[in-house]
Amino acid sequence: MPSVSHRRIVAVDLDDTLAHTIEALAAWHNDTYDTDLKHSDFHTQNLWEVWGGSREEACQKVREFYTSKHFLDLEPINDYALESLRMLKRRRFSLVIVTSRQQLVAEETKRWVDKCYPGVFDSIYFCNLYLTNAEQQELISKPKSAILREINAELLVEDSLEHALECAQVGVPVLLFDKDGQYTWNHLNIDGKGVQEADAMILPHNVTRIKTWKQVVAHFPKPASPLRFCWVPSDFVNSDDEESDDMKTVDVDDMSDDDNQYFQDGEWKKSSSRELVWA
Ligand SMILES: [Mg+2]
Repeated sequence: MPSVSHRRIVAVDLDDTLAHTIEALAAWHNDTYDTDLKHSDFHTQNLWEVWGGSREEACQKVREFYTSKHFLDLEPINDYALESLRMLKRRRFSLVIVTSRQQLVAEETKRWVDKCYPGVFDSIYFCNLYLTNAEQQELISKPKSAILREINAELLVEDSLEHALECAQVGVPVLLFDKDGQYTWNHLNIDGKGVQEADAMILPHNVTRIKTWKQVVAHFPKPASPLRFCWVPSDFVNSDDEESDDMKTVDVDDMSDDDNQYFQDGEWKKSSSRELVWA
């Protein structure tokens, strides 16, 4: 595991959080197997439940997908994701990708990230999940929650409900990405309850459903201005003023209004300290 940045780390999932993977997977499956699958058919991330067949066959199909043009030409999420991430980078966060993907596609993944999110991410961590039986003899899987703990990530942006709950359980707050409310695979199904009501009943306090990348950014406070004083020549102030030094000091603390916030228990709170705290 590479050395960890001293900057605050925000971890981001890749498939369906940064890329329109399900659309591409459905299109590939339709072209290859003459099916008519739509985005809405993917009500679960257990692909064998959508495609039929066994879990092993579904893993093998994903390996076929990896060799296709559909995979190599994945569309990035067209939802201000790039702009939002660049804003977080400007705010001095270290951004890393933590993906379920296998190291088998490390090079293809790097090329895609460099093309679609150039200069945004510092690292990509591969969890090696969903291995075929043969791959399990050679590769080691690691849960996302374990990687997040190792790199000391402070937040995860993720579309998988399963991974969100797993990471929240080890204390990492999660923004559950549900693009435009269309990611039915991360909706909780409780008879007679809507998504919002089911979330309130089931989701832990540190998992927050968000529907756009702009909402991701809204969960981060604006950075405090480093400016604390404004100095002006004394000629510009009333000469009868009791302060007669050459320079005049004016406190402009009120210029920044968000510098006393900190993130705790899934929400931003006010701190009495001047220092911005990310609890
Ligand atoms: Mg995903």
